[in-house]
Amino acid sequence: MKNIKHLKCLLCGKKYRTDDVRYTCPDCGNNGILEVVYDYDKIKTEFSKDLLSKNINFSMWRYLPLLPLDGLEKASPLQVGWTPLYEAKRLRGKLGVNSLWIKDDGRNPTASLKDRASSIAVVKAQELGENIITCASTGNAASSLAGISASLGLKNFIFIPERAPQAKVAQLLVFGATVFAVKGSYDDAFALSIKATEVFGWYNRNTAFNPYMVEGKKTVALEIAEQLNFDIPDYVFVSVGDGCIISGIAKGFYDLLSLNFIDRVPRLIAVQAMGCKPIVDAVNGDGIVRFVKPNTIADSIAVGIPRNGTMAVRDIRNSNGFGVAVEDSEILDAIKLLGSTEGIFAEPAGATGFAGYLKSLREGLVSPRDKVVILVTGNGLKDIESAMKIGGKTIPVEPNMDSLQEIILKEGIES
Ligand SMILES: *Cc1c(COP(=O)(O)O)cnc(C)c1O
Ligand SMILES: [Zn+2]
Repeated sequence: MKNIKHLKCLLCGKKYRTDDVRYTCPDCGNNGILEVVYDYDKIKTEFSKDLLSKNINFSMWRYLPLLPLDGLEKASPLQVGWTPLYEAKRLRGKLGVNSLWIKDDGRNPTASLKDRASSIAVVKAQELGENIITCASTGNAASSLAGISASLGLKNFIFIPERAPQAKVAQLLVFGATVFAVKGSYDDAFALSIKATEVFGWYNRNTAFNPYMVEGKKTVALEIAEQLNFDIPDYVFVSVGDGCIISGIAKGFYDLLSLNFIDRVPRLIAVQAMGCKPIVDAVNGDGIVRFVKPNTIADSIAVGIPRNGTMAVRDIRNSNGFGVAVEDSEILDAIKLLGSTEGIFAEPAGATGFAGYLKSLREGLVSPRDKVVILVTGNGLKDIESAMKIGGKTIPVEPNMDSLQEIILKEGIES
């Protein structure tokens, strides 16, 4: 790939040519995650703010020079990325804050940010001549991979925990994936998928294990920067499971810094559920990620063994960020507030970043004057069972005006 210098192991620092290794560092094993190192001097010759402003490709592919692909011939026709960044005026008013922005990545083709990574995976698989792609997923990475693969006629073998939300399973089945519902957790599904890759030789899209997934995810940061006219926010709040999205965001801002598009990076705030907060504890504590048994309604971030933990902790700390943990009840409240104030419907992990912001604001960790971007990572229709726990109920009525008027009077509803 023309703009890549090499892949570099996170643990031992050894460098590899892209042709020589597919997944992790052969010397360090599965924890030896490889980072893509670009030749920024070369990229500068074909990429500038001016060229970008004239680019009419409104998808993640507008950043092609910064991606690990040489062309788009093998890319999915689905539109991934260039999701809206909302000014959140009603929320600003309600919370009494000056500069709050919401990036709604639930607006991707399969309704989560994961499409940004899957779009890269399908191209990589085809480049290697593989037409079967596998992954382990709490749900979204899989449904994303399945949708993007379907658009290109590629096959998938998917490993999900048996308790994955039904909507995500429905997506998988509609997109035509072969789905193994693993009797265990996401962490068990991950282990099984790695073994299956070794035995069957399928192309593996697993987060962190595959070095190119962070590269896809970073496009959300490139968009945030461009949509804000490169006037960088003070904070970005991100829900964290494996820690790949937050490292992707760090990478995106780092790319822009290296190209002199921006002169500083925002503080990255990792938000996790109280019942599963290994990365938050590591960031706020001694930096070591200790495995936990997840217990949260936010299934997309119910990750007890974060695959990208080490890199995520490094990136959050380098940005001068911190970690926040929120109760499941706070996540549900955040879903409701976001939905009822801005018309944005998020799944539990999708609203967790917002819940972390609300808590940080209450506790004075951020000020009402700070410029803040909150990332919504997945759409609420992916998990309506959780949404229905928020409360509120429908009002049964006979199909005539008399009944309606009687109820309106009885319930004291303002009409
Ligand atoms: C995957 C996912 C996350 C967490 O991303 P990681 O890279 O695992 O940290 C957060 N929210 C949603 C909706 C997701 O699908
Ligand atoms: Zn190594």
